[in-house]
Amino acid sequence: MSLKFTVGDLTIHRIIEQETSFLPALDMFPALTPEQLAENRAWMREAGALDARDTLVLCFQSYVVKTPHHTILVDSCIGNDKPRPLRPKWNMKTDNGYMRALASAGFSVDDIDFVMCTHLHVDHVGWNTRLENGRWLPTFPNARYVFGRSEFDYWTEQNAKAEVPPFADSVLPVVAAKQAEIVRDDYEIGDHLRILPTPGHTPGHMAFAFGRGRDLAVVSGDLMHTPLQTRYPELSPRFDVDAAQAAKTRRAFLERYCDTDTLCCTAHFPSPSTGKIRRSGKGFTCEAV
Ligand SMILES: [Zn+2]
Repeated sequence: MSLKFTVGDLTIHRIIEQETSFLPALDMFPALTPEQLAENRAWMREAGALDARDTLVLCFQSYVVKTPHHTILVDSCIGNDKPRPLRPKWNMKTDNGYMRALASAGFSVDDIDFVMCTHLHVDHVGWNTRLENGRWLPTFPNARYVFGRSEFDYWTEQNAKAEVPPFADSVLPVVAAKQAEIVRDDYEIGDHLRILPTPGHTPGHMAFAFGRGRDLAVVSGDLMHTPLQTRYPELSPRFDVDAAQAAKTRRAFLERYCDTDTLCCTAHFPSPSTGKIRRSGKGFTCEAV
């Protein structure tokens, strides 16, 4: 399995925490019909994106991007010791899979200069913190953690109404430790990282474009979850906060990168999770390289 890619002066590593069956396709996509699923079952199974019971297979992973100047970790997955009663595979997890994957890619927690979150959902912030002597502390002691302003404000508001556990245990402790940067859309790291606002899945969702002067790679976060949505960009999962906006964002993103050389690094597509966007009929494909 490909866990490491080189594009231009970037090296990109996939740090996989889980790759597993997630939700039945018909349950995840309210607009998906049984007929449409049947038409796409063969290629989705072939791609490892759908299991024998029509449940979608998702990968949960971080990307570590090494530029000539920095080591940047995007999306910190699920995390350990976190109460997530609605998701048995994530609830109070104690395995060392993530830390082992990080080490085998050649990184220690001390090596990470920046942690960037595409958005602040539970499976993108988990390893921001770890439990030490009963307290949540930043996992990456030398990192600046970068959160988008509108995303941070949205979750601050939600958390004020009723506690949002991943915000409380995986974001706020980073702010308390003074390692957080709450940034606007024009934030850049050197000339190697730019933010692409991609709202819909959450109000402040961002993708990250890497590369000097051109987008060598883009980390797309949850603007799409499964290859079925490249074929049908208008298909929004039931947990997109604004389904119509998410559909528009998804098509615009796919149009932007279609037939370019940019390596698209998805959060959740099954392995190899990465590829180049190509046009196919009224939709697109993400072709492995
Ligand atoms: Zn996600």
